Amino acid sequence: MIRIETTQIGENGYSVSGEEPGELLELEHDPVAQAAGPIQYELTVERAGGELVVRGQVEAPLTLRCSRCAQFFSTTVRVSSFLHAYEWAENPESLDVSADVREDLLLEIPGFPLCHDGCKGLCAQCGQDLNEGPCACVPPEGAPSPWSGLDGWSATPGPRAPKGGTGRGEKKKT
Ligand SMILES: [Zn+2]
Ligand SMILES: [Zn+2]
Repeated sequence: MIRIETTQIGENGYSVSGEEPGELLELEHDPVAQAAGPIQYELTVERAGGELVVRGQVEAPLTLRCSRCAQFFSTTVRVSSFLHAYEWAENPESLDVSADVREDLLLEIPGFPLCHDGCKGLCAQCGQDLNEGPCACVPPEGAPSPWSGLDGWSATPGPRAPKGGTGRGEKKKT
């Protein structure tokens, strides 16, 4: 739980930084993304009228499953401009920002993770990882590849859920 002691906020705000176990992200049963270490946060809280404005950055190491070759790879998701406001009256002594940190980090997970830009993916016929070398099942000479229509097509990585959506609850079946 990432908790900020609001009683510590002075005239110039209050800064907190630290680590939080990756379990906060609740990715235990996610088929694509797994937490791979602690979440790191650096946050500043300021009073703005009746609100507490929290800004800063958070990041978390993750293991993601490549959407082309299905191999797992390590990466870091980062929210470089975390910014949320809270009603001070509702958080008179301490403020728990865990839910927003979690949600913002999950939104940074790409919809189509790639282990690297040039990942060749798996053979559609035999399932071989084409990054490790070509397989034997080359399409017959002259026959159009069923995938030729996809030449030049590239997946556009994007957030998993639209900003403002309910996030993980809307995850689509693949
Ligand atoms: Zn890959
Ligand atoms: Zn093959």
